[in-house]
Amino acid sequence: MYDINQVRADFPILARQIYGHPLVYLDNAATTQKPRQVVEAMVDEYYNVNANVHRGVHYLSQQATDLHEASRETVRQFIHAKSTNEILFTRGTTESINLLAFSFGEAFIHSGDEIIVSTLEHHSNIVPWQMLCQRKDAVLKVIPMNDDGRLDLEAYEKLLSEKTRLVCCTHVSNVLGTLNPVHDIIRIAHEHDVPVLIDGAQSVPHMSVDVTALDCDFFAFSGHKVYGPTGVGVLYGKENWLDRMPPYQGGGEMIKNVTFERTTYNALPYKFEAGTPDYVATHALATALDYLTALGMENVHTHEQQLTRYTLQRMSEIEGLHIYGQDHNSVISFQVGNIHHLDLGTLLDRLGIAVRTGHHCAEPLMRRLGIEGTVRASFALYNTQEEVDALVEGIQRVAKMFG
Ligand code: PMP
Repeated sequence: MYDINQVRADFPILARQIYGHPLVYLDNAATTQKPRQVVEAMVDEYYNVNANVHRGVHYLSQQATDLHEASRETVRQFIHAKSTNEILFTRGTTESINLLAFSFGEAFIHSGDEIIVSTLEHHSNIVPWQMLCQRKDAVLKVIPMNDDGRLDLEAYEKLLSEKTRLVCCTHVSNVLGTLNPVHDIIRIAHEHDVPVLIDGAQSVPHMSVDVTALDCDFFAFSGHKVYGPTGVGVLYGKENWLDRMPPYQGGGEMIKNVTFERTTYNALPYKFEAGTPDYVATHALATALDYLTALGMENVHTHEQQLTRYTLQRMSEIEGLHIYGQDHNSVISFQVGNIHHLDLGTLLDRLGIAVRTGHHCAEPLMRRLGIEGTVRASFALYNTQEEVDALVEGIQRVAKMFG
């Protein structure tokens, strides 16, 4: 069913040699590689279709517009949103969250209000809320994490109050790989009439996501982590919230009428999309999502779960290797003895193995774990058991060097 060799053949970069070794790319949580189909969609559009979208009467503009809007429909179907009005194109998860922090903040956050985030957040789901709290004299509250790397739901329930205006939580941790109980987090927030943003940057590439079934109010993800191009992402928002939120940026496209006295705004989703969108990237993102759909998200998920289990089992053979957290969804963070994560990462690189080291843009989580950083291996649909074997052998070689 899932022909890994055929899949790998779609990703030309995987044939590269690094320092004389076959590339073992295990930094997929930072960004994924691109299949030929995605790159070719971009080249084809630039060579054969390119024209600015939406305002053109001419053939190419209409064709580019059709591709761009069809991409919105592809995204809608992929995350099971009800309407394309709920799909806003952004530059990525970070911009999606900043858009929300600005716009939701303008409409709904006042002095003394509270916003809840979790210990497991990436900086991009912390700092925009901190900045909003500073602007509005609001208060940031944090869901604590248990020692097993899971969020403390009892403590979460106690944090919610009549002052809570929004809960922001990641779907899957980019550091530990923890799949958060977002169904419960959303249900509990809704019992208090509080909306929820889910950061889906690390879930959308690895599992099928249904925002309507989740009933989240907002959901963000990045194109480049889901085999699409850089510079494009998505903010999903329920229409009843987006309708009541002001525009994020002003400019072309987001207006209905402009006079020097007053401007009226465009309908959803365009109200939130000022300026020329990256219509080539949106089309390429849709091509990436079509690629995933053709493979089957269930197959991708099963493949990566098997690979993760295999890695955990192989890593248990390595003396002194400590894995952080207890729930791993295509992400494993670890340290080996007292070898500095930077040394381990650098030496693995010399063997052609790309992993990420450091705090992974989650300094508060590092502080909670009492460490400065980890080595992180993160998987994609094209990784193999042989690559995991190479990682394990690489770690053993480095460990031997350090005695
Ligand atoms: N949230 C999570 C959970 C992430 O893993 C990342 C990327 N590492 C981001 C947000 C930010 O994504 P981007 O840099 O694509 O905006």
